[in-house]
Amino acid sequence: MQPDHPTRVPVAGLAIPAAASRAFPPDRAEALARLAAVDPAAYARTRNHLRGAVTRLSPYLTHGLVSVPEALAAVGPNAGKLAQELAWREFFQLVHELEGARILRDRFGPQPRLAPNAGPRRLPAALVAARTGIDAVDAAVRALVDEGYVHNHARMWLASVACHLAGADWRAGAAWFQHHLLDGDLASNALSWQWVAGSGSSKPYLADQANLNRFADTRQRGTFLDRPREALLDGPVPDALRETVDLDLPTVLPDLPAPDPDPTRPLLAYHPWGLDPTWRADDDAERWLLLEPSFFARHPWSRARLAWVLAAAKAVPGLQVGVADARDALAPRASAAAAGRAAPLVHRAHPAVAHWPGPSDPTPTAFRHRWTAAAAPRSFSAFWSRVAPRS
Ligand SMILES: Cc1cc2nc3c(=O)[nH]c(=O)nc-3n(C[C@H](O)[C@H](O)[C@H](O)COP(=O)(O)OP(=O)(O)OC[C@H]3O[C@@H](n4cnc5c(N)ncnc54)[C@H](O)[C@@H]3O)c2cc1C
Repeated sequence: MQPDHPTRVPVAGLAIPAAASRAFPPDRAEALARLAAVDPAAYARTRNHLRGAVTRLSPYLTHGLVSVPEALAAVGPNAGKLAQELAWREFFQLVHELEGARILRDRFGPQPRLAPNAGPRRLPAALVAARTGIDAVDAAVRALVDEGYVHNHARMWLASVACHLAGADWRAGAAWFQHHLLDGDLASNALSWQWVAGSGSSKPYLADQANLNRFADTRQRGTFLDRPREALLDGPVPDALRETVDLDLPTVLPDLPAPDPDPTRPLLAYHPWGLDPTWRADDDAERWLLLEPSFFARHPWSRARLAWVLAAAKAVPGLQVGVADARDALAPRASAAAAGRAAPLVHRAHPAVAHWPGPSDPTPTAFRHRWTAAAAPRSFSAFWSRVAPRS
């Protein structure tokens, strides 16, 4: 498929929509305040409920404003279930690190239910327009677009409706989420969609109306999900989901030139997944955030998400922003630095920038460093059994 080409827009034209800005103020102080407010016991008891005590930390974790070890240290030794959920994040990052772009294909095997007209950018029209008639589903779609955030359980419902009820390709759902979610993470997103879609699983996740009513506080009856779970997939695609649409995921980049760092000063190269203001905070160096057009062409982001990341980047003192691919902006500098003809450059490791040249600092981890095998774990339980803290 022909990739979309990011359109350049003036930086001033990028604003975070009010709902997203209210829900997720783009700074580290907000993340630390959320961590200070975590009640691990309430989290464990209520996290599956839409009104449960979840942390809403994901945009901050995805973009590196806080790390998993920092989150765990802030919550304390009794993090319990929350520690395990944070480990899911590190599990997905590890799989991405060790398997690269394979995570974007069918890692666990082919998707079992695919409609004949399914495609990597094709979803039910009613789902995308928040008009399925299922209140909890439609509300989740509105939250996705307006706030850039959806509760984990509702993400599973959307994926279940798309992939199982409608037979849509999980890659279309993943691209849709990636476009809107402020926490959009290649690994957590692509691998969660594959998990819900049932690739490689004999008993795929499937949500019925009773499950939605219970965890979303709705009381709907008579919907296309209001059938015994075992019978949900009997018969044709529900009428409401039959019409499909090709997703329109326009992507933009700020109208800024390529970075132009001073070769005589050390260079700290930032990416959108490493906006930690404490990283090498005392170094006397130039700091550049690099936005790569080739990435955004493959994984389009909404304006809201880009605006959020640019606002969050302001927390790094002296950070300048440039638009260019790493092979053009960083590779010549990395060669010059290696040959002693330029000051050193360094970036923070992240699987989404595995192609960046030059040395990297490790991203802090709470669990991942205990996985020493060269191959990725096949499942989360294989990972957890190896890395869970021993009490
Ligand atoms: C289809 C689908 C797509 C998803 N896409 C993403 C994505 O793009 N980015 C993303 O960060 N998460 C994704 N998740 C995982 C999860 O839904 C979100 O991390 C979580 O809902 C974020 O809300 P929270 O911060 O309030 O989570 P909490 O429940 O408060 O958890 C705290 C943190 O733990 C991590 N975490 C919790 N649950 C999971 C999980 N199941 N998988 C991975 N990490 C987890 C997250 O970093 C989260 O911020 C996806 C899940 C599904 C089912």
